[in-house]
Amino acid sequence: MRRTVIAGNWKMNMTPDATRAFITELAPMVEGMNKCDIVLCVPYVDIGPAVDAARGTNIHIGAENVHFAKSGAYTGEISAQMLCAVGTEYVIVGHSERRQYFGETDTTVNLRAKAALDAGLKVILCLGDVKEERLAGITDEVVRMQTKLDLAGIDAEQLKSVIIAYEPVWAIGTGLTATPEQADETCGVIRHAIAELYGEEAAEEITIQYGGSMNDQNAEELLSKVNVDGGLIGGASLKCDKFTAIVTAAN
Ligand code: PEP
Repeated sequence: MRRTVIAGNWKMNMTPDATRAFITELAPMVEGMNKCDIVLCVPYVDIGPAVDAARGTNIHIGAENVHFAKSGAYTGEISAQMLCAVGTEYVIVGHSERRQYFGETDTTVNLRAKAALDAGLKVILCLGDVKEERLAGITDEVVRMQTKLDLAGIDAEQLKSVIIAYEPVWAIGTGLTATPEQADETCGVIRHAIAELYGEEAAEEITIQYGGSMNDQNAEELLSKVNVDGGLIGGASLKCDKFTAIVTAAN
C-alpha cells in the first residue's frame, strides 16, 4: 500500500544552529512513529546540519528546489548532484511560491523534476489551483493539466520516486484550508490523471499529499480522507509540537 508522507517545508526560515536544535528536539518526540515517512525540506545552507542531526533517526531531509543542469553558469542555483553530495534524500519542485515569485513554469518544473529523479532524489511535486480557478470551477482541468505537463517524460519506474502535493494556492500561508472533501476530491482527480498516464496500479501506489494551512487542529480530518496520503506543511512545520501533532495524527 502507498506510504503516508508528512513533509515540512521550512521556506526561508531557520539558521544552521536553529536547525540542529530543532531536529534534536523533534527526534525523540517522533521516535517510533513509523506509520508515515517524516521529511523536513530545509534551506540549502541547513541541509548539511540537518542531515547530521537526523542521522540515526526516522527523520529524512529534503531541499526546497533544484536546478535542472548538472553544473554551469546558473548563478544562485544548486544542482541535484550537489544536493546528493550533502546527503539530501528529497526535493520539492514546483512549489507555488517558486511559480509565483520566481517565474517557474510547468516546463521548468518538469525539467527540475527529471534532473532530480535522474540523480536519485525523491521528488515532492507541488501543483494546485489559484483562487480564480477554484471560483471559475476549473480546478479539475487545471490540476489534470499540471499533472500531465509536470510529469512529461517521467517513466513508470521513476514515478515510484515521485510524491505529488496538491496545494491550492489560495490555502498556502493564508490560514484558509481546503475542506477535507475538497482536498479528497482534488487529490482523487490527480490520482485519476495518474491512472490515465501510468495505469491503475501506479495510481493506487502513488502518494498524494494535501498542503495548505494544514495544522495540528485540522490534520486528523484531512488525513482521514482516502485520497489524502499525507501533508506538505509550511508554517506548522516550524514548531516542534505542532509538527509532532501532525505526525501523530498520521500515525
Ligand atoms: C507550503 O509551504 O507548502 C504550505 C502548505 O504552507 P502552509 O502550511 O504555511 O500553508
